[in-house]
Amino acid sequence: MTLTETQIAPPLGGTLDARAISAWFGDHKVLDRVSLAMPAGKVTALIGPSGCGKSTFLRILNRMHELVPTASLAGEVLLDDRDLYSAERRVTDVRRQVGMVFQKPNPFPAMSIYDNVLAGLKLTGTRASRSARDGIVEETLTRAGLWKEVRDRLRSPGGALSGGQQQRLCIARSLAVRPRVLLMDEPCSALDPTSTRRIEETIAELAGEVTIVIVTHNMQQAARVSDLCAFFLAAHGTPGVIVEHGPTDVMFDAPRDERTNDYVNGRF
Ligand code: ADP
Ligand code: MG
Repeated sequence: MTLTETQIAPPLGGTLDARAISAWFGDHKVLDRVSLAMPAGKVTALIGPSGCGKSTFLRILNRMHELVPTASLAGEVLLDDRDLYSAERRVTDVRRQVGMVFQKPNPFPAMSIYDNVLAGLKLTGTRASRSARDGIVEETLTRAGLWKEVRDRLRSPGGALSGGQQQRLCIARSLAVRPRVLLMDEPCSALDPTSTRRIEETIAELAGEVTIVIVTHNMQQAARVSDLCAFFLAAHGTPGVIVEHGPTDVMFDAPRDERTNDYVNGRF
């Protein structure tokens, strides 16, 4: 594939629809019939205590769950009404369309900032001319809120950046392949408050263009960045379920379930 100008235009977010997802590691069931629609261009926050299956659910949304040898799942995930798990779908294509940013920033530390941004393009076999590459690097670093800070040192190693900058570089690396969806698993948990704010600003700017699903333990963050919220719970060793989901303001101000109310107010 060769990049053309039209492919450099911002992509539109896709709608993710998870239907009756159950998941296992060996015979340990960790999710039980979880259904959640994540609308195009919206930010959906997944909240809930540790161990209730949020990361597992996220990894099912871009087929990373199947990288664990003991893992299995039931149910289906649709991206714009097309099954992510259908036999004719290439896994690399799924992971290009549905990107992932992790808790710990993981740029290639010895690789230049410039090449880090383009690393995903190489993996997906996308060819681009030198000027197209320069354009992609500038555009994606700008979208990730990092361009002004690094424009004069694009050949420096990614590992030389601060933690917050590294995380924004990882966001840029994900964006360079023009995903429809960006999954973020506690992207600010390893960062200081200022870096956290910068990432939140980036999320706000990306919203509308890219569908975002973010796991966070920070309730203020969920309230600040998300349009929709889903509260996961795994009571007493039972598999994780979604107790309640809906618009973020309703989840925080007028939740239907007492357990949601307790959780968002820090009572467990
Ligand atoms: P959360 O992100 O909400 O903290 P996880 O999805 O990480 O929850 O974990 C859900 C459950 O699945 C936990 O009981 C956890 O121990 C188990 N689990 C997660 N990853 C693995 C794995 N690779 N192998 C076996 N069990 C796992
Ligand atoms: Mg997790």
